[in-house]
Amino acid sequence: MTAVIDPTCAIAAVSGADLQVPLVQGGTSSYANFDYAASAPALKQVTDRISQLLPFYASVHRGAGYASRISTECYEASRGSVARFLDADDDQVVVFTRNTTDSLNLLAGCVPGETVVLDIEHHANFLPWTKYGRRVVRAAATVEETIQRVVAELCSKPAALLAVTGASNVTGEVLPLERLATIAHLCGARILVDAAQLAPHRRISLRETGIDYLAFSGHKLYAPFGSGVLVGRRDWLDAGEPYLAGGGAVREVGVTSVEWACAPQRHEAGSPNVLGAAAIAAACDALAAIDPDELVAHERFLADRLRAGLTAIPGVELVNIWSDSPDCVGIVAFTIADIVPGKVAAYLSAEHAIGVRDGRFCAHPLLASLGLDAALRASIGLGTTAADVDRLISAVTTLVTHGP
Ligand code: PLP
Repeated sequence: MTAVIDPTCAIAAVSGADLQVPLVQGGTSSYANFDYAASAPALKQVTDRISQLLPFYASVHRGAGYASRISTECYEASRGSVARFLDADDDQVVVFTRNTTDSLNLLAGCVPGETVVLDIEHHANFLPWTKYGRRVVRAAATVEETIQRVVAELCSKPAALLAVTGASNVTGEVLPLERLATIAHLCGARILVDAAQLAPHRRISLRETGIDYLAFSGHKLYAPFGSGVLVGRRDWLDAGEPYLAGGGAVREVGVTSVEWACAPQRHEAGSPNVLGAAAIAAACDALAAIDPDELVAHERFLADRLRAGLTAIPGVELVNIWSDSPDCVGIVAFTIADIVPGKVAAYLSAEHAIGVRDGRFCAHPLLASLGLDAALRASIGLGTTAADVDRLISAVTTLVTHGP
């Protein structure tokens, strides 16, 4: 596919793009952010929406005052933006949560049976499923073989849910989700996609892929911290134990009785994060307005440039889970021979104002199976430019040539 944009340019205005940071050798430099996978800076459309709503925020569903009415309308309309962004089915509800971790814990309390997971998952999509029984499938060297293992596990005994990541938070590799959804359904299970890393990079249609449940975090989707989303089929969410007990989640309360509301309110007790929901909605609207091919072209151009540049540096090795991944988002994991990742990250930050992530990325089982104590991760987003990529390659080259 030919790039439909000028791929040397950032694709959207993000906050902090012109951030000046101090350098250890003195002076300052513009910040080159390669940590979008941890948290993405807010889009201009998001900061605009928050600024508009800020004077009016008030408790939703609790008052007839003007501010309360505006907040309630905005909060409920935000569900519509999320549903449109994900092309949700009519029976899929949008629940606002605090983040992906919160969304997955919420769903874990509603699953009527065992959950099958891979060992490559972020802890957020690994630890919550123990409540009603978790069965772990070890990833193989290829996606194909891994899928065969998933099939074998789902066929071996009934499971309620297959919970998979949309894109690995360590390597960016993407699984064939539509195929996994078909497999899960044929085996009598549903599928949950942890889209924390996929949603910022790829347009997802729940309707077309057959994904039953999906979760993501606002702060990785160009909106600030504090809000997340769980979208999914109504029946489990209506039948499940309310995630929190409290006001807003009930229809009727007596001294010794309670009648709980249906989803989404059932799982949204307490005063909700109206600004957070509005921020997520603004991010969804802004991303929906970008041509998906343009998004992929921008990211592929930059990620390929980064991978090629890093591979050419002696001692640098790229990290991948599979040899046959059908797709990969703009996340590049790598190691440098004889230099621990923490030292590399500290050097890049202090001397070059470049932000990357090092460590085990809340994916300890994956790092262990890759035989790594830690790695480096450079992740690309809408504000990344080719100049940023070249700066990172040049800084790593200097480090390898002269030492830390
Ligand atoms: N899932 C994946 C794939 C992630 O990358 C992350 C965070 O890095 C999470 C879940 C958890 O996200 P949060 O900390 O926003 O709950």
